Amino acid sequence: MSCIRNRPAWMHRGISCRTIIQAKGVYSLMSKRVIIIGAGLAGLTAAHAAAKQGATVLVVDRGPIGIGTNSALANGFFAGPSEKYSPEDYIRDTLQAGRGLNREFMVRLVAREAPSAFQRLRSAGVLLKERGAQRCVVSPEPSVIPGVALMRKLADLAKSLEGVHVLPGFQVTELPCHNGKVCGVRGFNRKGEEMDIDAAAVVLAAGGAGAVYRRHDNQKKILGQGYSLAARAGLDLWDMEFVQFFPLVLADPRLPALIVYPPFAREAKLVDSAGQSILEKHGLGDVNDAIVKKRDSFSALLFEEAQAGGVFLDLRGVPASAWDVHPLALFKKLRFNFREKPVAVAPAVHFTMGGLRTGETCETDIGGLFACGEILWGLHGANRMGGNALTECVVSGAVAGRSAAERALGEMPVASCREKPRQLPATCTVPEAGEVRDILSAIRATAWECAGIVRSDEGLRRGMERVGAIEDRLMRLGSAGPGGRSALEDARAGVLVLHAILQASLGRRESRGSFLRSDFPDEDDGNWRRHSCLGYDANTNAFAVKYLPVEGA
Ligand SMILES: Cc1cc2nc3c(=O)[nH]c(=O)nc-3n(C[C@H](O)[C@H](O)[C@H](O)COP(=O)(O)OP(=O)(O)OC[C@H]3O[C@@H](n4cnc5c(N)ncnc54)[C@H](O)[C@@H]3O)c2cc1C
Repeated sequence: MSCIRNRPAWMHRGISCRTIIQAKGVYSLMSKRVIIIGAGLAGLTAAHAAAKQGATVLVVDRGPIGIGTNSALANGFFAGPSEKYSPEDYIRDTLQAGRGLNREFMVRLVAREAPSAFQRLRSAGVLLKERGAQRCVVSPEPSVIPGVALMRKLADLAKSLEGVHVLPGFQVTELPCHNGKVCGVRGFNRKGEEMDIDAAAVVLAAGGAGAVYRRHDNQKKILGQGYSLAARAGLDLWDMEFVQFFPLVLADPRLPALIVYPPFAREAKLVDSAGQSILEKHGLGDVNDAIVKKRDSFSALLFEEAQAGGVFLDLRGVPASAWDVHPLALFKKLRFNFREKPVAVAPAVHFTMGGLRTGETCETDIGGLFACGEILWGLHGANRMGGNALTECVVSGAVAGRSAAERALGEMPVASCREKPRQLPATCTVPEAGEVRDILSAIRATAWECAGIVRSDEGLRRGMERVGAIEDRLMRLGSAGPGGRSALEDARAGVLVLHAILQASLGRRESRGSFLRSDFPDEDDGNWRRHSCLGYDANTNAFAVKYLPVEGA
């Protein structure tokens, strides 16, 4: 007997149709389901953990499962305690990078839980090699990004696990809530069909927002959709002004903005336009150390050098054997003769430190809504130590998945919220060809020019004005077809996140970690050892900002 027409793929994967009611685009699974939004490292870790507890899990992603995420671009470095690196040293270094704005309980939680999280990865068949204070994923082929190897393994595992179902190409547009609790997700699939999917618990593992900027090394659709969903559902966004730049990203206009994956060969030179060594000029010791531990100051310095005339990576002296192993093997696919001429490099946006507040169980202030991975706030403070993002994903993913399963299994089956979709203005018009793409370019240009590596009051105010104009344009637009709808939702998310970054940056009158102001160049612990906290009001499309003291300070 079939009670479902047009079954989505995940329904074929063993969920009994007797338990599912489809009515007017509302899927109501009368079970104790956990929905995970985002199939990156955090989301897939959460899926494994929730399934292990016995929950039925549905993983949705706007793209494919595992690949297409920022996790798949990762260099595969995990920070965390090991035999050679004590938990105390790890905690000290993470706090030092965060410049007093980390949530210390999260740092301690990660220090405690990381070793067992690494062990779980190994049990899942991931090859993790110790390298000094870090562990790194070993890719089976040097020309495959370690993150791709990692995510392929975890995606295959997720698809094979009893109780885990996947729904690629599903874009979540709303988190319906009832009486302060989340009751599922609302979104649309690749055909543009609007669906509500009910759940007893939802895990938001939707990643960061690097692609809001013109120059970034993220996947191009990582536009802060998760922050936007959360803010519209009523959650505060914390410390959104802290955006991390990676010092060395390809900057030749003929090449993609690919990160120059560390570690650097000893023979590689970083030179200015006159051919002078930048490391010697600025008394910097080791480039690999600068990337892991001094990412903010190193990025700012290279930004200035790039503005002044350019920064070039000269790989001509690197021996032939190095081109066959990671990381240089990755460059062999690019159409550029790195062995004959230096390539232009410059900093680009890499990571967002701000995000959603949770407690130890990764539950947000909305009941049944959990968060993990890059979207989470607190571990990194004002800047992230290299390797700590992947560690955050595997630790917080496991905690969120476990907690969500416990919540779901302890709940009565949920009833559908069936709230109305967000109302678009009656006067909305379908965008002209290329219009949304132009809007996205305007968002990215504004972010880069007004909320970039070094900010100022004047630039931030200019940015706010430009954001206002972009928001007005977007308000008037409706969607044309599923592709158009997706791009429009992305642009709406991108501008909301940029608005948050600008707003939080305007108030912070100091420089700290990744956050630099030309008009307030000093770190000011007396006045600014504080967190920004932004509350979004959908009616006025404005953020109310508060700056709150650090817990326990
Ligand atoms: C080039 C590069 C190299 C890096 N290398 C390292 C490294 O070696 N070590 C380290 O610690 N960190 C590294 N990082 C950072 C790290 O990779 C990321 O912080 C981490 O992978 C984020 O994982 P995540 O699971 O939180 O999000 P992601 O992997 O970005 O996954 C989020 C997923 O959610 C989906 N999604 C978002 N919104 C919606 C929605 N509304 N509906 C449906 N789906 C949605 C997205 O499509 C995406 O697939 C690197 C980052 C980059 C860009």
